[in-house]
Amino acid sequence: MQIVNYPHPTLRHKSKPLKAVDQELVSMVREMFALMYEHKGVGLAANQVDLPYRLFVMNFHGDPEQPDAELVFINPVISHRKGLAEAEEGCLSIPGVYAQVKRPEKIVCAAYDLTGREIEYDLDGLPARIVQHETDHLDGKLFIDRLSTTGLAAVRESLEELELEFTGRQNREEIPSDEQVIARLAELEARRT
Ligand code: ZN
Repeated sequence: MQIVNYPHPTLRHKSKPLKAVDQELVSMVREMFALMYEHKGVGLAANQVDLPYRLFVMNFHGDPEQPDAELVFINPVISHRKGLAEAEEGCLSIPGVYAQVKRPEKIVCAAYDLTGREIEYDLDGLPARIVQHETDHLDGKLFIDRLSTTGLAAVRESLEELELEFTGRQNREEIPSDEQVIARLAELEARRT
């Protein structure tokens, strides 16, 4: 398992809800937490590790020594958005790119955990921002899609560098083509969603 970078096609995949939690999924979640900590992140969505599942992990402390703050969101649904807040965001799949993003300040999010229990979270501040950023990933959306024209212009050069790097690796056949990635996603999706 590894983190894929913009403009990997899985980052643009809209995932369907998972049907069940099994032992394999529990192991994937453990691996996702480990990767997230390794890369100093506070959240990581399944799309970012090339999996078409409606699932993300988060620990808003970003600290493996604080496992009490670890949360797993399966099939999350956001409701009751309130207020508006602006803060800087980055993404483990878009290295080196940071920008101010406006989002609702408070949300309610319902999701299943690894035991199959449905939990309703009342969130604001950083946790609310992470949950919105990660739920966007499951819909194939990235924080750069939420920037103003000037905000996007400021990061365009960095994005173009990432695009060149990615297509270069594809042309040298170091990584799968878009068609291969999309075919694999369809196979995985058929088994679990
Ligand atoms: Zn992200």
